[in-house]
Amino acid sequence: MRKDDCLFCKIAAGEIPSTTLYENDDFRVFFDINPASRGHCLIIPKQHYDTIFDLDGTSAASLFTLATKVARGLKAELNCEGMNLVQNNGTIAGQTVFHFHLHLIPRYTGDTVNVQWQPGEADMDELKALAESVGSHI
Ligand code: 5GP
Ligand code: ZN
Repeated sequence: MRKDDCLFCKIAAGEIPSTTLYENDDFRVFFDINPASRGHCLIIPKQHYDTIFDLDGTSAASLFTLATKVARGLKAELNCEGMNLVQNNGTIAGQTVFHFHLHLIPRYTGDTVNVQWQPGEADMDELKALAESVGSHI
């Protein structure tokens, strides 16, 4: 399924150009136009899903299998020291393009990438209750 006026549906279909490092029938992998670091790329399904909340498990499994290969390819060519996988869902979480995508961000000593949060303090009673209630959905 594709969505009209979706930028990444158009990139997926090759209607808008992208620097693509890999594609198959189901996915396209291309470099981010505003990279956080050298080699920053995105994996998108060619089918339109807004967010993780819509993505089916089979597509997710294939996408993550592909991510392992892309990550190894980037590491082999770029000699990055590490890599962040970032995947934003919803405006509140920083999503700006509402077609599911996984960021692969190679990391290097001295880079300017910032993927951080302030560590909080767990309330163990609340965590136990959440483990039951959320777990019941899985
Ligand atoms: P988000 O903030 O939704 O997780 O990430 C969207 C990403 O898409 C951003 O990192 C942004 O730089 C990238 N992006 C937006 N438009 C284009 C485009 O036209 N081409 C490419 N290659 N990347 C894009
Ligand atoms: Zn789309």
